Amino acid sequence: MARTRMVREQIEDRGVCDTAVLDAMHDVPRHEFVPTSRQGEAYADYPLPIGHGQTISQPYMVAVMTEALEIDASCRVLEIGTGSGYQCAVLARIAAEVHSIERDRDLASANLEYFSGDRFAHVLLHHGDGSLGWPEAAPFDAIIATCAPTKIPPSWMDQLLEGGRLVTPVGSPGAQSLVRIRRSGDTFSEEHLLGVRFVSLQI
Ligand code: SAH
Repeated sequence: MARTRMVREQIEDRGVCDTAVLDAMHDVPRHEFVPTSRQGEAYADYPLPIGHGQTISQPYMVAVMTEALEIDASCRVLEIGTGSGYQCAVLARIAAEVHSIERDRDLASANLEYFSGDRFAHVLLHHGDGSLGWPEAAPFDAIIATCAPTKIPPSWMDQLLEGGRLVTPVGSPGAQSLVRIRRSGDTFSEEHLLGVRFVSLQI
């Protein structure tokens, strides 16, 4: 099956080893999140356009970012940039609660239907500006952004729990880095993970 091969060749063979992440990537039907015209490429090794000038990330990138969040079934997670909803669905297979914010009204409402059933009662979708985080539900064990700010908004760091992790692309188009920030009291340590290309966070 295309999805089994995707997990083995694109993700596991490249070093992702968190079994919860591998299982989630195996379970979520990625083809349900890509446009009808790109169905044949749903399990291909690259990002795809989802309309409105936005993209669904390459499967490997989704896996790397999810693993870097270090989440388990006890965690509450915030995602900035719901887009197609695919990353959100992967997070929802692992975490106890997922909040996801999308700025584009059409994309935000397109997701409502997929996540409407009882099995997604722990997924809360919000329409709004994610650069402010989601104070109503903060603090979070983990925060992930799938659009790149030029500088990390302070509200994201403020909304992390003690020991919490923030994984985000940061930088200007053409010079972005994927970073993980870990909170320890009022100290935030930053690790560079890899060079990336994401759409910009719109403010
Ligand atoms: N996680 C998505 C990737 C979507 S691309 C997926 O799995 O498909 C990034 C998304 O970030 C786009 O949908 C874009 O509209 C959204 N975005 C950009 N700026 C934003 C902001 N300030 N607040 C919330 N979402 C934003």
